[in-house]
Amino acid sequence: MRPVPRIRAVVTDLDNTLYPWVDYIVPSLEAMVDSLVATTGLPRIRIVQSLKEVYTRYGSNEYPFTIQESDIFKPYEGDFDSFDKLVVEPAARAFQSTRARFLKTYPGVIETLRWIREQGLKVVGLTDAPRNAAVHRLRMLHVEGLFDALYTLPGYELPKNVAPRIRRKEEAGGYLPSITVQELPREAEKPSPAGLRRILSDLGLRGAEVIYVGDNVKKDMPVAAACGAVGVWAEYGTYISAEYRERLAIISARSVTARHVSEEVHERWPLAISSFVQVKDVVEGSRWTAPRVRKAKGKGKGKA
Ligand SMILES: [Mg+2]
Repeated sequence: MRPVPRIRAVVTDLDNTLYPWVDYIVPSLEAMVDSLVATTGLPRIRIVQSLKEVYTRYGSNEYPFTIQESDIFKPYEGDFDSFDKLVVEPAARAFQSTRARFLKTYPGVIETLRWIREQGLKVVGLTDAPRNAAVHRLRMLHVEGLFDALYTLPGYELPKNVAPRIRRKEEAGGYLPSITVQELPREAEKPSPAGLRRILSDLGLRGAEVIYVGDNVKKDMPVAAACGAVGVWAEYGTYISAEYRERLAIISARSVTARHVSEEVHERWPLAISSFVQVKDVVEGSRWTAPRVRKAKGKGKGKA
């Protein structure tokens, strides 16, 4: 038996690990489309396809200026003030109020993040979401202050044609995060281990001193394995109903969905948890398997 290493940090994926992403994104996008159908009278199919093209371009379903950048709404932009008040604002309100209802952390997540920090461990987020969307989500979930740092993919800039209230907030620093946020290059998207390697180097830790939690067995767990970290598979994040998968496929860009939601695969990972609360057990060593180490060629001496 190898000794249980002393864990010094918990690095965690965000979507479908800390909160069910699908549970809020599907009804929120649908509410926004309903609003656009009502305010413009355009056919739903044209609206959906035009929005999806923008999501694909920005790599996020939550790019906040999707409507302004969609081709089908261009004719309304001649008078931005009326377009903003009669089309953009109602759609944004529909999205935001639905998100406020359905974006919730899984049970026990906040208490567990607090407990991890009370043990003197660092808590770090590692996500493939763009910087702005990831920071905003942590803020809405009231967990931003429980993170020592957050590592994301590159954020997006404000477009030229944006409501003055948003421009003013940006200039006043209203969108700046209160935690350390590092943007990783696009190539660091998981399963590349570049993000976790960077975190280890920034924290001055070895892989074996870190627990990495994620729901995607094909994208998150190879990251842990490549770095020698203790990979913990958030299996609970992979269960998504067939109905929600279908509604998501209609409304969300395929490339964005692939980034956020695990495919249904047969692969499993030995250290699986059914609730984020069980990260406590892993930290305490009662639920632990040795990190997978790649065998070096010609060094096999029978059974380990
Ligand atoms: Mg995830």
